[in-house]
Amino acid sequence: MRSESGRLNIAIQNNGRLTGETFALLRSCGLDFDSEGKSLRRPCRNFDLDILALRDDDIPEYVQNGVADLGIIGMNLVVEKEARVKTLARLGFGNCRLEICVPEHSAIGCVDDLRGKRIATSYPSTLAGFLRSEEMECGIVYVSGAVELAPSLDVADAICDIVSTGSTARMNGLRPLHTVLESESVLIANHRALADGRKSDLIDRLMIRIRGSIEARGRRYMMLNAPRAALENITAIIPSLRSPTVVPLADENMVAVHSVIAEDVFWDVMENLKRAGASDIIVIPIETIIG
Ligand code: ATP
Ligand code: MG
Repeated sequence: MRSESGRLNIAIQNNGRLTGETFALLRSCGLDFDSEGKSLRRPCRNFDLDILALRDDDIPEYVQNGVADLGIIGMNLVVEKEARVKTLARLGFGNCRLEICVPEHSAIGCVDDLRGKRIATSYPSTLAGFLRSEEMECGIVYVSGAVELAPSLDVADAICDIVSTGSTARMNGLRPLHTVLESESVLIANHRALADGRKSDLIDRLMIRIRGSIEARGRRYMMLNAPRAALENITAIIPSLRSPTVVPLADENMVAVHSVIAEDVFWDVMENLKRAGASDIIVIPIETIIG
């Protein structure tokens, strides 16, 4: 399965929490491939790239040893597997934390109280690193899944597990004690692929698209008309990506203002713009922003 010279390989999670957003990211980069079906290798029809759909646990090692040139994976797994890979970008989805939790009524109230206790985890290496940095000794109980059940089965006094909202932990009568690692999905690369002329060119081209797509996420393109006299007030209200574009209109007392705006502030800004005299406000999605 080692990647053929000339074509790039990217390993992604086959069927899990990261799969949907990973496909969406690759599609937003203009890549044309089959996302349905069970095939392990999905060639892109319009870019020299093959998508390899794999178990997420295998991806850090495959990228480290060059089975895949690139990978999209939770940073938590890159850390746990101690993969010698280069992180090219944080992708802004799959956000979660590796957290130590204890039973609600446990006497353990702080990290220091964990000394000599048993902690169940699927992340033994990351946990061991944390305990070393705290100069603490604990029993590490490896469990491959359903970690949150370990205290009720009395195989551990605490757990160290991935949480996002924390609701699974709460449902199992656990409370958070300490965050060991904050994680999100990342794009990682094999060091030899980055040193190979043809592959690194392809990686650079892909990176321009990925950065463009990440930049555009959560942003909208806004156009509005305004009296020329209100222009100064209006441009002061818009938290613009760069300076807004001001276009003269046939009515010389009026101008059009175009700008990129973050969607989470749009509604507040829009109300202020209306008050300042803006009209005909149009907001449209942005596919990509190439700086
Ligand atoms: P696979 O079958 O590929 O081995 P998995 O069951 O090990 O999948 P998922 O549960 O799909 O993995 O999680 C994939 C990644 O999603 C995690 O490694 C983590 O980076 C991220 N993630 C985000 N939120 C959560 C969460 N609440 N629980 C677990 N993982 C989460
Ligand atoms: Mg897995």
